[in-house]
Amino acid sequence: MKYLHTDETMEYRPSIRRPRRRAISRFSPPIRLLPLGLAALALSLFVLLLRGCAITREETGVPGALPEDISAVIAVYDDENDRVLSMRLEEYLCGVVAAEMPASFEEEALKAQAVAARTFTLRRLPACGGTPCGRCGADVCTDSTCCQSYRSAEQLASKWGADAAYYSARVEEAVYSTAGEVATYEGALIEALYHSTAGGMTESSENVFASAQPYLVSVESPGEEGSAHYRDSITFPRKSFITMLNAAFPRAELSAKKLEVQVEITARFASGRVKTVRLGKVEVTGRQFRKALDLPSANFTIEFVGEDVRVSTKGYGHGVGMSQYGANAMAKEGSDYRAILQHYYTGINIENWGERLK
Ligand SMILES: [Zn+2]
Repeated sequence: MKYLHTDETMEYRPSIRRPRRRAISRFSPPIRLLPLGLAALALSLFVLLLRGCAITREETGVPGALPEDISAVIAVYDDENDRVLSMRLEEYLCGVVAAEMPASFEEEALKAQAVAARTFTLRRLPACGGTPCGRCGADVCTDSTCCQSYRSAEQLASKWGADAAYYSARVEEAVYSTAGEVATYEGALIEALYHSTAGGMTESSENVFASAQPYLVSVESPGEEGSAHYRDSITFPRKSFITMLNAAFPRAELSAKKLEVQVEITARFASGRVKTVRLGKVEVTGRQFRKALDLPSANFTIEFVGEDVRVSTKGYGHGVGMSQYGANAMAKEGSDYRAILQHYYTGINIENWGERLK
């Protein structure tokens, strides 16, 4: 299952222009994490050397493209190339926002994504009291099933082609104009989960992950109909359907002749997502069923159509926290990034975390 993100990877290439210091200082004071970040990085690099991990200084953009004082330095494990990169936080966030959300989205949606991605990242930095993901000793990794997607300058350049300058400027604006801003609940960084498309209603954390969080509760997510993932339909030949489910759940013992009576959705959550499905003599969760058939979401219906089984889904992703397509819909209706974040993360505040660390 995709843990955090949309599969619509859009790419990003840092532009050669310098960020506008005036714009940054107007929206938020620069963060002062650099000394702490450098100390943490030195320690991580020492640990990595001991562990034999490859360490690379990633040239993520034009040298000097970022003001020196707006960013902590973090260690990022590059999952594709099995190496650890050191880079400044806000630089890293540009690559995350570009990878996690289409850069054609509304600017306020991109800003909401930037704040969510920053919050998610800071929760993994020891300098902010967080717990690193720990892959090869790094703070975060580029594996979207563990942390967040990230695209390098080279990857983004080839993806965006002639539109690179336009898209990179939009992403930079979203990241730099919110520099240092994070989402907090009762003063602590939130676990800023997000996903592509909620299918009209997000899901409460405890129905997907182990723990409940007061700010990760089910809310409406209107206006997502424009998402390519709002509705989907997957048709399985009966044989494939049975083979896949019997492989995932051997005790189900599904058979072609009895399939209609063996398969039944037995409970749903209030959001519409499936809570439990009966498969023969076993009952599995909607999440387990989704994983076994690699469905876009756990909000599904099952129909038997001749020799086929049709599974129709609503939404894409786990459904917890911010819906990216919902955020874009809110932005189109005039909501700013703060209103978007406060809609999807119940009861949170937007704070400048850099100020707290001065
Ligand atoms: Zn990770």
